[in-house]
Amino acid sequence: MGKKFPLPPWLEHAAMVKKKMKERGFKMADRVQICEKCEEYAEETWSLKGGQGMGGRDICACMNCGRARSWKGSGPSRIVEEPFDLMGFLGIRT
Ligand SMILES: [Zn+2]
Repeated sequence: MGKKFPLPPWLEHAAMVKKKMKERGFKMADRVQICEKCEEYAEETWSLKGGQGMGGRDICACMNCGRARSWKGSGPSRIVEEPFDLMGFLGIRT
């Protein structure tokens, strides 16, 4: 049996990430994009629709290299957060 390589947190906790995102009301987009950083076809996009008076949030996270970005709100006042602490945001201990 080979030695088990430690996985990066977003892979080790991939199922937990998906579960927590769903719990928070995020919906995963059907398409996966090419990550600008590692050029792998592994960037998932999640979006949360904002309620009344509340801005939504979009999160792009690469499941290969872990690059994560988030946009808050909508329209010209959108604020981008990069790098985005996906694990911290979801409260996953790594
Ligand atoms: Zn990547």
